[in-house]
Formats: sequence, C-alpha cells, structure tokens
Amino acid sequence: MTVTRFAPSPNGPLHLGHAWSAIVGHDIAEARGGAFLLRIEDIDGTRSRPELADEFRRDLDWLHLEYREVAPQSQRIATYRDAADSLRAMGLIYPCRCTRAEIAAAARRMGPDGPVYPGTCLHRPIAPGPGVVWRLDMEQATDLCGPLTWTDERRGEQQARPEMFGDVVLWRKDAPASYHLAATIDDAADGVTCVTRGLDLFHATHVHRLLQALLGIEPPVWHHHALLVEADGRKLAKRRDAPALAERRRAGEDGRAVAAELRHGLLDTGISFADTLLLEA
Ligand code: GLU
Repeated sequence: MTVTRFAPSPNGPLHLGHAWSAIVGHDIAEARGGAFLLRIEDIDGTRSRPELADEFRRDLDWLHLEYREVAPQSQRIATYRDAADSLRAMGLIYPCRCTRAEIAAAARRMGPDGPVYPGTCLHRPIAPGPGVVWRLDMEQATDLCGPLTWTDERRGEQQARPEMFGDVVLWRKDAPASYHLAATIDDAADGVTCVTRGLDLFHATHVHRLLQALLGIEPPVWHHHALLVEADGRKLAKRRDAPALAERRRAGEDGRAVAAELRHGLLDTGISFADTLLLEA
C-alpha cells in the first residue's frame, strides 16, 4: 500500500507552498488507494512553536485534505538515540566542537547546506558532553556501503552522492537529532513508501539513502515536487512573509477552492512553479 506524508516543522505558519506539498502527498495516496500521514517535526528546540501544530491541522481540514496523524518527533527521541548509538558503535560518528565561524573559515568547498565541514575534529580527542555535536564520518560510511542508488518518481534513478554534504551533523547540541537522521528514521517507522516533499530537499535524499543503508532500512521511493516561487525565483518562505494559510482561512476564503486552484496550476500573481533543482552540485 502506498503511504505518503506531509512533515511540517512548527516554526512558522503554513503558506501556499506547504499547501501544495500537502496536496501532492494527499493526492498521490488517494489516487493509489493508500494513506496520507501528517507528522509534526517539532524537535527544533530553539525555533519550535508547538501551538502551531493545531493551526496546521486546521489548515489541512480547511483544504479538505484527509490525513492520519502519527507521533510528532518530540515523542520519538529515544528512537533517534538508538540509531545514533548504533552508528557510534560502528565507529561512524565522531564528536565535534567547531563553531559555525570556525567551519566557515576553514571550509574548502560549499555543499547544499553551506560550507562543507573540513574534518577538523575527525581525529581529535574530543570529550563528549554539552556543546558537542556528532558528525557522520562520510568517507568511512560511503566506503562501507559502496555505490547506492535511489529513485525519484519524477526524475528517475539517481546515483547517491552524499559526499557532496561532507561530514553532516547527525546529533545536534540543541535539537537533538538532526533533520537527516530524524526524517530517515521516522519515514521508516511510519511505513512511508513514497516520500513526498519539495525539490529543495532533493539533495538531502542522498544523505538519507546512505543512512538507510547504514541502519538497515529498506528504501522507499521519493517524489520531489515542484516548488512555489516568487517573481524573483526564490521559494515562498515563512520568513519572507508569504501569506499564511491561517490568515486566508480566517478571512473566510474557501480552502477547497484554494486547493483546486493549486491543482490546476492557478496561482496568485507573482507566484509560479519552479521545477528545476535549486542547486546543481
Ligand atoms: N520538516 C521539514 C520542513 O518543514 C520537511 C521535511 C521533509 O519533508 O522531509 O521543511
């Protein structure tokens, strides 16, 4: 059975781009007689506003998207810890104390998430404790797994290239698990068979595929959908004040009609779909 999901982070209200993401997940599940899940990704300790989760549920109801909600990330931390423990036992993650500024100064290349970690702490004796993150030893991990592939429904088979990210953080000091680790584990635990999300996360999938191989997780397929972008080509963003679905809902707009317009590609003035990868690394 097909299982898709929408996995918003409650660090700002949902906007049209999120509505589109939820519609894609919902419609794929519906067309294939499957299930569409809502998972609240609420472990970003510094930015998470748990009260927004209720608004998200109302937004999905307003759009007339039926979903089944699964446990939020804050209730799953033990599962992330177990995974980190097993990677640690395999000698594949190491503690790091570098600051952002140190990394930016020492980095030799850029990756999809910014400056690539130059491996400063890899062979240093760092005592675990507060202020320490745990990074994946990318070289060892990719050597161990050998070549991996994954499939995007819209773009076909992909060669996994996680090394473009370098030694990614898997365990944070504040979160606690990183997005890469948590999302990989959650999608497996939730039985997601088709990971539906925006093209902006296309490259992250290279890392997720590697983590699946390391943790013995059967890979799903992915469906990275087009993004909604503003006239300047940048994607709609909470921090740039894209109009919130909640505002439109409160103003009495018809959510079912908003969803229908999105499905027909009818967008507000100045907004369009972008179906190219934002970063061709
Ligand atoms: N929580 C992420 C976000 O709100 C989405 C993660 C995903 O779909 O894999 O951007």
